[in-house]
Amino acid sequence: MKILVMNAGSSSQKSCLYQIDGEQLPDLPPVPLWEAQIDWTHQPGIAELKVNTANGAIHKAEIPLQSRGPVMAQMLDTLWSGATQVLASASEIDMVGHRVVHGGQYYQDSVRITPDVKTRIAELADLAPVHNPVNLEGIEAIEAILGDLPQVAVFDTAFHARMPERTALYPVPYAWAEQGIRRYGFHGTSHRYCAQRAAQLLNRDLKELRIVTCHLGNGCSLAAIRDGYSINTTMGFTPLDGLMMGSRSGAVDPSILLYLIREQGYSAEQLETILNQESGLFGVSGVSNDLRLVMQAIADSDVRAQLALDMYIERLKQFIGAMIASLGGLDVLIFTAGVGENAPNVRAEACAAFAYMGLQLDLDRNSGRPRDQVISSADSSVVVMVIHTQEDWAIARECWQIAMA
Ligand code: ADP
Repeated sequence: MKILVMNAGSSSQKSCLYQIDGEQLPDLPPVPLWEAQIDWTHQPGIAELKVNTANGAIHKAEIPLQSRGPVMAQMLDTLWSGATQVLASASEIDMVGHRVVHGGQYYQDSVRITPDVKTRIAELADLAPVHNPVNLEGIEAIEAILGDLPQVAVFDTAFHARMPERTALYPVPYAWAEQGIRRYGFHGTSHRYCAQRAAQLLNRDLKELRIVTCHLGNGCSLAAIRDGYSINTTMGFTPLDGLMMGSRSGAVDPSILLYLIREQGYSAEQLETILNQESGLFGVSGVSNDLRLVMQAIADSDVRAQLALDMYIERLKQFIGAMIASLGGLDVLIFTAGVGENAPNVRAEACAAFAYMGLQLDLDRNSGRPRDQVISSADSSVVVMVIHTQEDWAIARECWQIAMA
């Protein structure tokens, strides 16, 4: 079965083609036959397309950008023509899986896309104005180019949609909850994939494990996982809540915003930009949202860069503690995404806070380049792992499971 995965973000479109043979999913994520990325914003008025295939072919193009449809069509063309051709024709694609950021309260699982599902995704653009419209655009582009192919929506929020009300609701007038103002959580595809992969590697039943997954990339969130589902998470109504991130603040006292609006005349748009793009590691350090550059500055004795990292780790520890409290204990702690997979110092400092409960890292394993590995010591009370998150593969698996159901 050949599955095309479409992962549309605000500034880029990543796509890949997986082939899954046989009656069972492979244990290890396969290498995609074909991968493509369109960068919409790097050069004004131009879309940059990069394609590469499993057998080493590469294609790059700069395409004048009027609307996105023709650029997507050109990207898909490279599947069945030119140097990067991997298919005889478009009809070889069996299914298309789309990452869709917001499924609201409607979707607890991935679904086959129907006109009703498209209407819901469009309605939920109110809650995810940057993402849901581009996700829908991707679905409609595929319809226009590939016709009546089965398409699946895999929602970032779905894994958290079973959270109990006591964690999902904010302590505000209940009428707000009735309007949909509640915690939705994000990064769900990554949290679910990492938890499932950890259970598989440990040869344990996922439903028996109490897990905290730490997705630390540009955006950062934690999930507390019990009985195979997220029962608490740090992101909320939007992906701005919770942990300190690359350029997002995470949780702040809402009165700060009221104060700035009232006393200093800030607009909602200004505050939105500051909290999303000018805060977090970048806002405190003044150096970058990229932890690698913050750490370089620390090596050059930059005091604010050190403060930014200290705050990042402090908040990470606090929220891991909160997730453990929700779970009533912890069996497995997982680190994933750019920072989680590549920053041994962040893992070590966060874990040191839980030495009191018998959690012990194996410092050699932690400082190597662990990938899909245990990094705790043999006598640690909690298994600590680094899992390489593979959201695109997770989307392909969801499609395969829906096709086989
Ligand atoms: P996204 O959230 O956009 O998917 P990633 O999960 O790829 O991003 O994470 C990107 C971030 O990971 C970078 O901004 C950087 O802060 C961090 N990162 C990547 N490699 C390293 C590294 N070797 N050491 C520390 N941080 C790293």
